[in-house]
Amino acid sequence: MTKRVLVTGGAGFLGSHLCERLLSEGHEVICLDNFGSGQRENIEELEDHPTFTVTDRDVRIPGSLPSVDRIYHLASRASPADFTDFPVNIALANTQGTRRLLDHARACDARMVFASTSEVYGDPEVHPQPETYTGNVNIRGVRGCYDESKRFGETLTVAYQRKYDVDARTVRIFNTYGPRMRPDDGRVVPTFVTQALRGDDLTIYGDGEQTRSFCYVDDLIEGLVSLMRIDDPEHDVYNIGKENERTIKELAHEVLDLTDSESDIVYEPLPEDDPGQRRPDITRAKTDLNWEPETPLREGLRRTVPYFKQHS
Ligand code: NAD
Ligand code: UDP
Repeated sequence: MTKRVLVTGGAGFLGSHLCERLLSEGHEVICLDNFGSGQRENIEELEDHPTFTVTDRDVRIPGSLPSVDRIYHLASRASPADFTDFPVNIALANTQGTRRLLDHARACDARMVFASTSEVYGDPEVHPQPETYTGNVNIRGVRGCYDESKRFGETLTVAYQRKYDVDARTVRIFNTYGPRMRPDDGRVVPTFVTQALRGDDLTIYGDGEQTRSFCYVDDLIEGLVSLMRIDDPEHDVYNIGKENERTIKELAHEVLDLTDSESDIVYEPLPEDDPGQRRPDITRAKTDLNWEPETPLREGLRRTVPYFKQHS
């Protein structure tokens, strides 16, 4: 059955792919975005769609919201490069913004998915990370505005569920990449691909032995939609990501190889609190949502590079 869906952060990297996917399934989609880190261009092709609407708004600021059946709350800057310049904005998008959307979900009896993050695990001492791991976050560090506000966003989501019976779920998204990330976003995949294409040095922070597990955007969107679709999920929080753990050094070589780049690698200081390892345990999502990511890293990067060739 088609639904009326609100997507906050809908002009961003993940949000624009999500809007596109929902429209392709026949839903009516309302994209709410303040165009801080999102881009008009990401949703340009959707703007002529008869059931797509864009509203240029900040999720932190009160005001009426359209009555909907479903809410995906994705509005928040997500790049560590932004944590220094936009800490208050980020902290409030995930707390004040989440509260507004939970109130709205309650008012219109909508189902809501809150986009949380693997950063709730901080610098993990348990590896890989299952949903039951409670994390190791430095609440006062430079990443705290993001990590801790996502944690409190989750707490609010659970509180509204318990107190008001709001049908709210949480997805913990692990590092995801693909077309429509901003080349200057600061996250590692757009940075390395752009540097490699330009012939600039690839900047590895630290010794490059820290690990991440990279998920291609189409797989991630499938996971988000699967969580929203299911009527009574066994759990109210799911890790969504790919288990293909790589060191950042390995990623750099993969990018150099794929782009046939002559760039060198240079080493720069590791940012504060940069997690040493990260890999999702996705047993829950596999079992309950029947979801599993399919795209190998090399194939995902191959699909991503042309976008950066056009945009850098
Ligand atoms: P993005 O920066 O491309 O998208 C975020 C979008 O939210 C942008 O369009 C931005 O303009 C909008 N936004 C930010 N603050 C806002 C506000 N106060 N009011 C209205 N709009 C606002 O980042 P993304 O990678 O697409 O991330 C989307 C969501 O997924 C975020 O909540 C992020 O925390 C979460 N997430 C992403 C990843 C990933 O690897 N991409 C990993 C973990 C979690
Ligand atoms: N990183 C790097 N060089 C860059 C950008 C990032 O070595 O130019 C590293 C960063 O220190 C981290 C990893 O790549 O260890 C992933 O960084 P990203 O910002 O993409 O995501 P997050 O740290 O939030 O997982």
